[in-house]
Amino acid sequence: MTAQIIDGKALSRTLRQKFKLQADHLRSKGIVPGLAVVLVGDNAASRVYVGNKIKACEECGVRSTTHQLAAHVGEPELLALIQSLNDDDRVHGILVQLPLPKHIDMRRVLESIDVNKDVDGFHLYNVGALATGNSIFPPCTPYGVQLLLETTGIEVAGQNVVIVGASNIVGKPMAMMLLQKEATVTVCHAKTRDLAQHTVLADILIVAAGRPNLIVPQMVRTGAVVIDVGINRLEDGRIVGDVDFDGVKEKASWITPVPGGVGPMTVTMLIENTLSSALRFAGEGQGIGALGWDAPTVPTGA
Ligand code: NAD
Repeated sequence: MTAQIIDGKALSRTLRQKFKLQADHLRSKGIVPGLAVVLVGDNAASRVYVGNKIKACEECGVRSTTHQLAAHVGEPELLALIQSLNDDDRVHGILVQLPLPKHIDMRRVLESIDVNKDVDGFHLYNVGALATGNSIFPPCTPYGVQLLLETTGIEVAGQNVVIVGASNIVGKPMAMMLLQKEATVTVCHAKTRDLAQHTVLADILIVAAGRPNLIVPQMVRTGAVVIDVGINRLEDGRIVGDVDFDGVKEKASWITPVPGGVGPMTVTMLIENTLSSALRFAGEGQGIGALGWDAPTVPTGA
C-alpha cells in the first residue's frame, strides 16, 4: 500500500482564497481585520515564523502590525504594550511569539491578552474551555490537523487516535479536540514505555515530538492515517518531520509530508481565528468555525 498525500499547502491555498473574500466583506462594512504580532528578542526561528504569518496576513487582506521589542525588555513594558493592544479596536487578534526570554513570565504575559483577541488560543480561559468544547479560539496547530482530517473525509469518531507528544501547544489540545469529536485518544510522551506498543494500535497516528525518524514503519499499522507535526532541521539543512516518510508511506493509507503538511495549516488557522474575531466584532461570528466550511474536498498531490 502506498499512502495518499494529505496536502496542507493546497488546502491552505484554498482556505486563504476564501479568507480573502471574508476580509473584503468585512472591509465593505468598514472593518479592517487586524492582527498584532509581538516579537521579543532576536530568535532566528521566531523571525521566520513571524515572517510567514505576516505574509499570510497580506495574502488574505488582514492588516498586520509587528511590535518588535528588545530581548532585555522589562515585563512591565511588555504588559503595557499588550494592554494598549487589548484597548485598540483596530486589533482583533494578538499573538505573542514564543518562546519569550527567560526573565519574562510567559504565563503572566499570555494571561494578560484579552481572551476575545487570544487568536493563538493559549490563554488559560481558552485552554480550559477546550476541555468542555467551548473555546473561542482553538489553538492553531491542532485546529489545522483537525481540518486536514475533516476535509480529507477521515472519520474521527470511534477511531483509535494515538498522539505522540504531550506539549501544551500541540499534543494536549489535540487530545482534547479529538476526544470532543468522540475519538478514543491515547497520548504518549518521552516517558512512555514501549512507544511502538501504543502506536501500532492507531487508526490515526499524530506525531509531535520534535525527533526525526522517531516513527518507523514497524510502529505503524497497515492502512493507518499518519499526521506528522514535527519540524526538524537536519545538519545538512534539510527540514524533516518526526516520521520516516519514505518508509511509512508504504504502509499508511494517508500521510502528511514535511514540509507542506501541517506547517502551512498552522499559519492558515491563525488567519481564520483572526477573521473569526473580526466577524464577532462586527456582530456576525459564532465562535469556532464561524467562517463555516464548504463540502469536504480531498487535497491530494505531491
Ligand atoms: P515540545 O518539546 O514542547 O514537546 C515535545 C513532546 O514530545 C513532549 O511531550 C515530549 O515528552 C514528547 N517526546 C519527546 N521525545 C519523545 C520520544 N522519544 N518519544 C515519545 N515522546 C517524545 O514540542 P512541541 O512544541 O509540541 O513541538 C513538537 C514538534 O512539532 C517540534 O518538531 C516542533 O517544531 C513541531 N511543531 C510544528 C508545528 C507546525 O506548525 N507544523 C507547530 C508547533 C510545533
